[in-house]
Amino acid sequence: MDFGGMTMAAKQTELTALTEKFRQGHYACPGCGVAIAMRLVLKALGEKTIVAVVTSCSGVISMAYPFTALGVPNFHTAFEIGAPTAGGIAHAMEIRGKKDINVVTFAGDGGTFDIGLQGLSASCDRNENFIYVCLDNEAYMNTGIQSSSATPADAWTMTTPTGRQRSKKKFMEIIAAHRIPYAATASVGFPEDLMTKVLRAKEVRGTRFLHILTPCPTGWRMSEGDTARAAMLSVETRLFPLYEIRDGVDYTVTQEPQGLPVSRYLKMQGRYRHMTDQDISRVQEEVDEEWLRLMSRVAPPCRRERQQS
Ligand code: SF4
Repeated sequence: MDFGGMTMAAKQTELTALTEKFRQGHYACPGCGVAIAMRLVLKALGEKTIVAVVTSCSGVISMAYPFTALGVPNFHTAFEIGAPTAGGIAHAMEIRGKKDINVVTFAGDGGTFDIGLQGLSASCDRNENFIYVCLDNEAYMNTGIQSSSATPADAWTMTTPTGRQRSKKKFMEIIAAHRIPYAATASVGFPEDLMTKVLRAKEVRGTRFLHILTPCPTGWRMSEGDTARAAMLSVETRLFPLYEIRDGVDYTVTQEPQGLPVSRYLKMQGRYRHMTDQDISRVQEEVDEEWLRLMSRVAPPCRRERQQS
């Protein structure tokens, strides 16, 4: 990845030195990908940040009143109004002349893909000035592992005991259709990439959207030590590619995947335990097709370099 002339080692040192704003003593399960993502996002944003947290695992683990693990001002807001809440705070800061405050929403996949979509769409349409972070653990984990429209096909949940029949909603395509200035996918398996995207989002005005895959050992039925491995394999198998979209049309892949077999990702998680070899082959075909679809949208390399410089 190009860091504006900076080497990877220098960039890592710079990112590591940033101040932690997600504090110890939160309520997350061991190995929680949501907690790791919140920590990385807040570390990149710094102290001039106000957070609106939607009902979700992110709310439960960081804001059990009267305690909070967030080292910045924070609001707990309802499932369906994460985006409008952040938009309102951003307007209030504007009116008060405070132009250097980062306003951020943390929401889960249920609060984003399902319940909060209408409000998010309206805020994107108005190009409200905030960063929306979707912490996607692919189900309603907070209320006991029920399927959301972010749950992938075949995944076990409490409401899809034989595996979900529908595919995961192509949410980045919905976001791209709004032509907002900046959107990106990110993964806790690639922390430098994730934090660099937060820093890029910070420099842009208008609605910015980050879709972060956050493995959940509890709901994915895997060991608490497997979070980083699952996150990395989701990218390296091309199941969850890392890319940016500017103005809804300029696509850039930020991490070239190795193209590992998707079976390596599926077989490490108990929620896919029932899948046959035939099922896995079908998923592989779908992943390959989606990858080609993404590649057809990506800008040629020369244009990519110009965008990042
Ligand atoms: S249920 Fe999953 S997402 Fe929620 S706190 Fe536990 S590990 Fe994190």
